Amino acid sequence: MEPTTFVLFGATGDLAKRKIYPALYNLFVDQELSPSFEVIGLGRSELTDDTFRARVEHSIRSFSRREANNSALIHDFLHAFRYRVLDIGRKEDYMKLLRLIEQREEELRISPNRLFYLSVGPEFFERIAAGIQESGLGSANGWKRLVIEKPFGHDLQSARDLNQKLSQAFEEHEIFRIDHYLGKPMVQKLEILQQNSVLKALWDNHYIANVQITAIETVGVEERAGYYDHVGAVRDMFQNHMLQLLMMLASHLPNNSDSEMVRFKKKKVMEALEPLQKQDVSANVIRGQYKAGAVQGKPVIGYTSEPGIAATSMNDTFIAAKLQIDDFFWRGVPFYIRTGKRMKDKSTRIVIEFKELSKMSSQANADGKSPNLLVFEISPNEGITLQLNTMDPQHKGGVKPIHMDFHESRDNVHEAYENLIYDALHGDPTFFAHWDEVELSWKWVQPILEAFEKNLVPLHPYAAGTYGPAESDALLAEDGYHWWFDAKPEQEFETKGREQYAFHKDH
Ligand code: NAP
Repeated sequence: MEPTTFVLFGATGDLAKRKIYPALYNLFVDQELSPSFEVIGLGRSELTDDTFRARVEHSIRSFSRREANNSALIHDFLHAFRYRVLDIGRKEDYMKLLRLIEQREEELRISPNRLFYLSVGPEFFERIAAGIQESGLGSANGWKRLVIEKPFGHDLQSARDLNQKLSQAFEEHEIFRIDHYLGKPMVQKLEILQQNSVLKALWDNHYIANVQITAIETVGVEERAGYYDHVGAVRDMFQNHMLQLLMMLASHLPNNSDSEMVRFKKKKVMEALEPLQKQDVSANVIRGQYKAGAVQGKPVIGYTSEPGIAATSMNDTFIAAKLQIDDFFWRGVPFYIRTGKRMKDKSTRIVIEFKELSKMSSQANADGKSPNLLVFEISPNEGITLQLNTMDPQHKGGVKPIHMDFHESRDNVHEAYENLIYDALHGDPTFFAHWDEVELSWKWVQPILEAFEKNLVPLHPYAAGTYGPAESDALLAEDGYHWWFDAKPEQEFETKGREQYAFHKDH
């Protein structure tokens, strides 16, 4: 890795504490950071370098996936950290920052490669980009990169405005828009798996009946009421993470695709996504809000009783949608997407349901239980399961599904932020959201936002601790399908005479 100064806006914040410092620590332990790596933490809080380092140490001891108990190693890691007070609105603070960075680059005799990580609220993104440009922080004779957290805009117009402002200070190839779902190892595997010749042969409307993308959680609005009530599931999850998963799954990547090809193909998927007209939204999109219920045996209150939420709030805490990609590969294959809070389980997964082509399979289909399925478990567990139907030799005419499971040991799984920070430090944009993708996503979602705002779509209540409103099930039932795994997977997979083949990493 080239020597780099990692300039962190929001160094005293929650994201830095829980994700960024632990990710940097694990990269350091894996010797993925340059020996001349420097971190300059910024915030308004008055901290000395020592207090800052103590905070970083506390963060890695609390949140690192690897236990951080080697004091000498931690000491070496913390050596790279410095802290400065910077008020985002104060021009002179950027000048002071520039002097500090130049001084450190000179002392360390390193090139002025600077990565600016904006771990602050979105209202500050434009101001910081302008501050970097006006102060000369971005004009050195090395590379500069801007890593920016979500949300990227509130709707299509605000996203365009933000992008236009950022592009005055950074070129597109210098902007790394984080969508942390793209950092998840299983999502990154989708890129590689799609280039596998076996899957490639099956990856279209001849073989695939439908695709289901689910990201559900058991928690409610938590402490984010002020933010979430203006955002809802559609902006918080659907426009970014869920559509990114769709793009990753549906883009047909040629072998050895580079980042440019990946982004080109993702863009093609978004361009082929059939647009929804405002008046058609209610036929294809289900909006829900959780009411009181019980999650994992514990009673919980409804959304409008949560602290900070108005009793009259019409905000969506659940959304399910049916999407169609109108291209050669996917025409006629429905993609069902759902995401929600206060659901029965916490899970992010993609299920590919295959068409039943043979006689044997038709029988399997007739019992409604066992089509061939390919399941990508993205979180909290990582794994791939293939359910194949075979004849049961002991019960003539019976069907017996075989399961092939691959599950990654949790110890080996990198945190999304490790992957993303590593890539940003190396200038690899593959797993960041390109502006084209962001703009096309907002464009697709815009009629939904407007239909929600004008109440053209009913807000369906659902009891906390369920899988959302019944209308979400009806959305699939109309097409003759159902959401897979709404019970525990062990219950849902056919258990009679089940055979399990475990494929571990070293096989
Ligand atoms: P946070 O805990 O509220 O931290 C905000 C940071 O911004 C603090 O370090 C604060 O430092 C700094 N800040 C605020 N106003 C400032 C100013 N005027 N000048 C200089 N610094 C200022 O927020 P967060 O949860 O870390 O979130 C940061 C970003 O990540 C947001 O865009 C959020 O949407 C995104 N994000 C967060 C999470 C998460 O899990 N937390 C997940 C995904 C995305 P001082 O108080 O010291 O000034």
